[in-house]
Amino acid sequence: MIEENEYDPPITYPTKLHKGRYCPVCAEEAVSPLGSTDNDYLIIEEFPYAMLTPKRTSFNRNEIFPQSILQLELDKVGMLLGKFRFVSVFPHFSHENGDPNANCYASGLARAVDEINGKKGVIILGANLCKEFTGYELKKVCGLSYVDTKYMPDGDVPRVFLPSIDTIYSTGAGEFGLGLMRFAKQIGVI
Ligand SMILES: [Zn+2]
Repeated sequence: MIEENEYDPPITYPTKLHKGRYCPVCAEEAVSPLGSTDNDYLIIEEFPYAMLTPKRTSFNRNEIFPQSILQLELDKVGMLLGKFRFVSVFPHFSHENGDPNANCYASGLARAVDEINGKKGVIILGANLCKEFTGYELKKVCGLSYVDTKYMPDGDVPRVFLPSIDTIYSTGAGEFGLGLMRFAKQIGVI
């Protein structure tokens, strides 16, 4: 099924997950979004790290889960993981043989942007998505409020751009935690 899409550039392939669980472009099984679409806040990742659960992951049993890290950081600013809806632009990880598919990305970006409608706040993770949404390098706008972006269908939705969760493994949570705190203040949680 071909759907019209209001975002630039217009795309001509489906954005809805096929049968709710397959990438509509390449048919790879999707990692399901987490949390209800009715949840107040949204986290957008490029790849579905935060959606991984212990049941379906290549992470070592002894490693700390991305979701656990996020939970810890949210706890520090008094926010609950359960208030969030999680989506990823790529609904799956890279294909075994080859680069991520640009059409999977474009389809997923439209799908993720659609989710922003009605949200009270959006956290967008990772340098690539920051560049995509704002045109800026993440290091220039990390944690700042109301950075201009071309993908905000609902007007002035509070948003923040933060490092991806996997960077916390290598660099620690300092910058991430600070940005999260600014976001919590921005939306009036603290
Ligand atoms: Zn795909």
